[in-house]
This record gives sequence, structure tokens and C-alpha cells, in this order.
Amino acid sequence: MIPGNGIDRAAGGMQSGARGADAGGRASLCMKELPASMRSSLTDTIVLGAGIVGVCVAIHLQRRGRNVLLVDRREPGRETSYGNAGFIQREGVRPRAFPRELSELLRIAAGRGLDSRYDLAALPGYASPLAQYWWHSAPERYRRIVAEYAPMIAHSVTEHADLIAAAGAEDLIARQGWMLVYRTAAKRDAAFADAERDVQYGVAHAQIDGAELARVEPALRLPLAGALHWTDPWTVRDPGALVEAYARLFQSLGGTIAIGDAQTLRASGAGWSVTTEGGAAGAAEVVLALGPWADEATRRLGYGFPLFIKRGYHREYRVLPDGQLNHPVLDAEAGYLLAPMRRGIRITTGAEFARFDAPDNTSQVDGAEGVARELLSFGERLDPAPWRGARPCTPDMKPIIGRAPRHQGLWFAFGHAHHGLTLGAATGRLIGELMSGETPFVDSRPFAPERFL
Ligand SMILES: Cc1cc2nc3c(=O)[nH]c(=O)nc-3n(C[C@H](O)[C@H](O)[C@H](O)COP(=O)(O)OP(=O)(O)OC[C@H]3O[C@@H](n4cnc5c(N)ncnc54)[C@H](O)[C@@H]3O)c2cc1C
Repeated sequence: MIPGNGIDRAAGGMQSGARGADAGGRASLCMKELPASMRSSLTDTIVLGAGIVGVCVAIHLQRRGRNVLLVDRREPGRETSYGNAGFIQREGVRPRAFPRELSELLRIAAGRGLDSRYDLAALPGYASPLAQYWWHSAPERYRRIVAEYAPMIAHSVTEHADLIAAAGAEDLIARQGWMLVYRTAAKRDAAFADAERDVQYGVAHAQIDGAELARVEPALRLPLAGALHWTDPWTVRDPGALVEAYARLFQSLGGTIAIGDAQTLRASGAGWSVTTEGGAAGAAEVVLALGPWADEATRRLGYGFPLFIKRGYHREYRVLPDGQLNHPVLDAEAGYLLAPMRRGIRITTGAEFARFDAPDNTSQVDGAEGVARELLSFGERLDPAPWRGARPCTPDMKPIIGRAPRHQGLWFAFGHAHHGLTLGAATGRLIGELMSGETPFVDSRPFAPERFL
């Protein structure tokens, strides 16, 4: 279970921008409801969804002088943005493509490897978006996608740096990049060659041989052929806590957070209304930032985006004295990730193609644990069950960011797939600029919703 975070959810009374303090002296979020009549007159923008994307959007709009109400059915940062690996992937200029090589497809079909798993019963539901995903992943189309995507990624760390400083969240951040470790020289050298291509996008890396890796990461036990070290990314020791820190920043700017249900969104007069615990809230403009739940909400509004999910798991373990990692590590040939977090060492898994609400299948995370125990010494599991989330994906691997084509005052910010933490801050700025009529800091057209309609 996800631990509580001291958020005050009492209804009644007005607490825009209110702060409290938890036992540790740290300011905690207050989510007290405004009386509905008062809130309607104050709020001009509602942001639906308080994951990393929605919270960053809310900050950027509040900074631009709007009165923003941020609505979620839970406290900020408790869903997908809670359980990810914590990477702000400055190197991630190449979004995760659908495999095109026959050998790779056969490997996945045969269920070999920990990086991907599919549930046969779910595949009919995936057929259409996966066919489009495969189509967009063809080399020439993919090359264009990378060129459109890379400018957004280029701002990933700098946009977070701005919010991290404003939120006073430096203690959650590590700045030494992350590593892919290789067991064989052939795979290592192929990765080094691939990394050279990304220098054109301003992505830096270091090529590390086995001896150097043993010096840099002495806790890794197996003899390894080396590592590709991405040196620019930042990593977050507790992604859920980062969203909370950003949510407190939003409140300190005068924004309001409320518990409510995005599925109650209705056109109302010249604007929109949504039901919260304190009653109905209205605003002229709404931003839908519902991550993997965007599909449900946009379908109700008449949009048919080809959205799909890739589920993923994490499990955390006690750190042992001889198992201290200096960097997060992807065991590249095995297909899982080891990330040092505040609570312990977090193993995260790759993609699982299954129905959103299908029960957990722990085969990937169990398999990863077994392989990881050969690589690194770590202690017992910290929770009885693994955490599970769902990456919100689009077939062309780019998020959907921009004005809703068929509705006045409605904006979209979802579909960030493997890079939602990475791109949350940049997306917040982009939406803030687009909604305020400013010149956007990157070309927003590659992310426009129209491309799927
Ligand atoms: C295992 C794993 C590892 C990952 N690792 C990384 C990584 O290292 N780096 C990276 O950049 N990305 C990573 N990702 C992807 C990243 O976590 C997501 O892209 C990102 O969290 C999506 O953020 P979001 O704000 O769009 O969605 P969410 O965080 O899911 O937020 C959506 C919000 O909408 C709310 N909501 C839903 N329905 C309703 C409703 N009806 N009413 C009100 N509120 C509602 C939810 O409560 C939630 O708070 C990983 C994902 C997984 C699964």
C-alpha cells in the first residue's frame, strides 16, 4: 500500500494556498474545499489530474496570473507519477519504438526476457493501436519523430531545475546520470555506437569498460563488460514526493487543490463544471491531464484517440551495507532497472501489455528480483505486494499537448508514455504558453491533438 502523506482533506472552509506542517516540520498539503459559489467566482482554470503533468501545468498557469483549481480523486502524485523509476531522461531523445526486427518480435512472442510481457486475452484490444505503433516505428517515420521529440527532451532537466529550485526540492534529486550495464562486449559496443548518434541532439555520455565499472560501482558482483553512462539526466529519489513538493509550490502561488471526479466534467454555459467534494466548480477553461485515464475521459467527450497503456511494476528492498549503488543501473541485457530511492532500492520493470484492470502478474518483477540478486546484494522486500502503474501511450510515441479541436476552452496534456516524469515540467510550460498566447519555447505542432483526428 502507498503510505499516507499527511494531506488534510477536510471539506468546508477556504484554504487556497494554505500550508500546514507535518510531524517532520515539512509543510504539508491542505486540500480543504472552497464553498462552491465562492470557488466558481475565483477560479478561471481547472486542471484535472494531479500527477506530475497536471501539477506542472497548474504551476505554470498560476504563475501566469490565473486562478487555478487542481482536481484529483486522490492526493497529488499518488498514481503513475508515484511509482516510476525517477529518471528525468535528458538522454531520452529516442522514444521507445515498437521492435521491427523479426528476432526481437519472436523473442517477445515466445515470452523470453523480462523487458516485455503480454497477456494473450488483452491483445485484441491492443491490435489497432499496436498496429499504428508498429507503423510509426518504421525507420524513416521514426527518424522524423525523433527530430520532433528531441527539442522537448532537451528542456527536460532545465524545466525541472526551475521548479525544483522554486519548490525547494533539491534533497530529492541526484545529478550524476544513470548507467546501462552490459554483460557482453558485443552488446556494450553496439550501445556505444548508438549513443554516438545522439551527440547531435546535445546528449552527453561516457563509455566505461569493465575495469572502470568495477571501480565506479564496486557493489556490482558479476563480471561485467562495461557500461554506457548517460551523464546529463537527473534522477529523483522519491518521484511521488517531488509531485507533492510541486503541489505545495502551486499552493504557495495561490492555487487551490480539491478532491473531485474528472468524469463529472460537463460543458456548462460558456465554460465547464466539475463536481468536487465541496460542490460544483466552474471555470472558463479546463486542462485534462489524466495520464492513463485520459482515454476514458476523452471518449466521453467524443474523441477517439488511439491511446493504449503499458503496465509496469516496482518493488522496493532494504539496502545492505555491501549493496550501495552510486548510480541507478539498467541491467540492459536482462531488462529491468535498479534505482536507489529514499526508502530502499527500487526494481522497476518494462512493459506489460494487459488490460488496465487485470490482476497483477508478478512474473516480470519476480524474475527481475531473481536476476538482480545475482548482480547486487540487497535485503528483504519492503512491501507485501509490488506497486503497479500504467504508462499512458500513443502510437507515434509523442504526448498529446494542445487545444482540444472540437471544444471551446478545453486543453489536453497526456500520453507521455515512458517519459511523463521527464517531460512533465516542459509540458507544463508549453501548456502555460499556449493558453496565454505566448510564443511557445518549442514547436508545439508535433504534439497537437489534431494529428490523430
Ligand atoms: C514502472 C514505470 C517506470 C517509469 N519510469 C519513468 C521514468 O523513470 N522517467 C519518466 O519520465 N517516466 C517514467 N515512467 C512514466 C511516467 O511515470 C508517466 O508517464 C507519468 O507518471 C504520467 O504522468 P501523468 O501526470 O500523465 O499521469 P498520472 O501520474 O497517472 O496522473 C493522472 C492523475 O489523474 C488522476 N485521475 C484519474 N482519473 C481521475 C478522475 N476520474 N477524477 C479525478 N482524478 C483522476 C489520478 O488520480 C492521477 O493522479 C514510468 C512508468 C512506469 C509504470
